Amino acid sequence: DPDPTLRAAPQPGDADRAMRPQALTEFVGQAEARANLRVFIESARMRGEAMDHTLFHGPPGLGKTTLAQIMAKELGVNFRMTSGPVLARAGDLAAILTNLEARDVLFIDEIHRLNPVVEEVLYPAMEDFELDLVIGEGPAARTVRIELQPFTLVGATTRLGLLTTPLRDRFGIPTRLQFYTVDELDHIVSRGARLMGISAESEGTREIAKRARGTPRIAGRLLRRVVDFALVEGDGRLTREIADGALTRLGVDHLGLDGADRRYLGLIAENYGGGPVGVETISAALSESRDAIEEVIEPYLLQQGLIQRTPRGRMLAAKAWAHLGLAVPKAPGQ
Ligand code: ADP
Repeated sequence: DPDPTLRAAPQPGDADRAMRPQALTEFVGQAEARANLRVFIESARMRGEAMDHTLFHGPPGLGKTTLAQIMAKELGVNFRMTSGPVLARAGDLAAILTNLEARDVLFIDEIHRLNPVVEEVLYPAMEDFELDLVIGEGPAARTVRIELQPFTLVGATTRLGLLTTPLRDRFGIPTRLQFYTVDELDHIVSRGARLMGISAESEGTREIAKRARGTPRIAGRLLRRVVDFALVEGDGRLTREIADGALTRLGVDHLGLDGADRRYLGLIAENYGGGPVGVETISAALSESRDAIEEVIEPYLLQQGLIQRTPRGRMLAAKAWAHLGLAVPKAPGQ
């Protein structure tokens, strides 16, 4: 395996990597995105050109990095990876860009967090495969233009709204990733159990799938914890009882909500009568960053119909009251 990131000793996260699908055909779910990508990859290969720049957006853990790696594999090119916050100076990006080979995939995670100066360098690089670098300072400063190899930029973001318009407009293939269905997650969990050499009952993998918050990364993590319980406290088989017991002990409830989700819902119910309440207020009361609330907690609660976003703030939906075991308060005047 020529992968330069391959390490000799097992490291945390290796189980994660082992489960990562390596080809588009192994990638479960995201049917629409997958079908489109297949066409664009095939077309780029037929033309012998770099594939168009691609932007993946959606909540964390849905497969943005995985898809970018698969693209590089299927295109038969190198995969280079960096992230928005890591690229502090224009020179950092220039160094990466000038080292790319023709048609390589450059993956920039958290691309909404690029420094504006670095972002400026990216525009001509994406559009014309050119770099304009300023050398020297003051009156002696001059610009040199460097030709780059044609490449494919794959950006990933959890916050499409924070991307500047000029950057957004330079992606030919914007792709939104969706939460996974229980069936899709069941598929992923079953495959993971097989790769781990664990014998799993279908009700066992299903229980994990139902409680994985629509997210493959969470499904993988829960699977590994359930397997721990199966090995230590069971007979090594992944059954529904073992899964249910383990997940309950891990604080994952029947909808897949964890402690942070329930604190969020409980706060709005108990302190704000179900809302509406502003996200800043929620953030302060929970001591959670606004980013974490908007990127991690809320998307799944919205998708599940547990909360609503209104112009005046967040509100609990009837399903959330039922889930908390509380009666929906009567509106004033009723
Ligand atoms: P993101 O970049 O969106 O945060 P990743 O691509 O890092 O998400 O995926 C998180 C984990 O979930 C990885 O370990 C990956 O193996 C797994 N995963 C993601 N999508 C799938 C999928 N469709 N099928 C199987 N595993 C997946």
